[in-house]
Amino acid sequence: EKFSSVNLSKKMVENLQKLGYEYMTEIQAQSIGPILEKQDVLAKAKTGSGKTAAFGIGVLSHIDVKRFRVQSLILCPTRELAQQVAKELRNLAKFQHNIKILTLIGGESFGKQLGSLAHHAHIVVGTPGRVLKHLNKGSLSLDELNSFVLDEADRMLDMGFIEEIDGVVSYIPQKVQTLLFSATYDDEILEISKKYQVDPLSITT
Ligand code: AMP
Repeated sequence: EKFSSVNLSKKMVENLQKLGYEYMTEIQAQSIGPILEKQDVLAKAKTGSGKTAAFGIGVLSHIDVKRFRVQSLILCPTRELAQQVAKELRNLAKFQHNIKILTLIGGESFGKQLGSLAHHAHIVVGTPGRVLKHLNKGSLSLDELNSFVLDEADRMLDMGFIEEIDGVVSYIPQKVQTLLFSATYDDEILEISKKYQVDPLSITT
């Protein structure tokens, strides 16, 4: 199935073509439509499946560039993955000028991140500990969030990030679209899905 068969903007489809993305991968074919319709999605998808573009295309389609507020938060288990996700999002957003995607990861200067946050961002991609630290300090606000993504959720749980994730969620003021991507499903994943999601569409590829 081609990207042109889903309800994406012409510019998005053209940019995808430039990136060499013409046909959707399986996870993309199953999830992009529901994500565009703001459904919660619980997806079983491995690295290499095209999962980043699956949630990335959906998230980017809902960003209002004129609103200088964090509208999407993507949590990843590692700094490396957060950087990769941010890079893929920037590629996907090449045609949407002025869209700011900020990474908030541990091991980088907190002060520098404060400066970046003061200049506003539309999307934050980060690791749970550092994101929570900014929320606790009041340097990051999720008051106008409309989507929340947990990428490689199983790895985040394996790494013991559940308390940090719960802490981050406590700063999200209202129900927002929540997308949960995980390579594996177990009771713990189903439990956090139950806790954070409403009527999620479950996709296994
Ligand atoms: P991911 O599973 O998100 O790590 O993506 C794996 C790789 O597939 C990345 O290098 C993407 O750039 C690439 N990719 C994602 N979607 C597509 C697509 N529809 N067509 C071709 N390549 C893709």
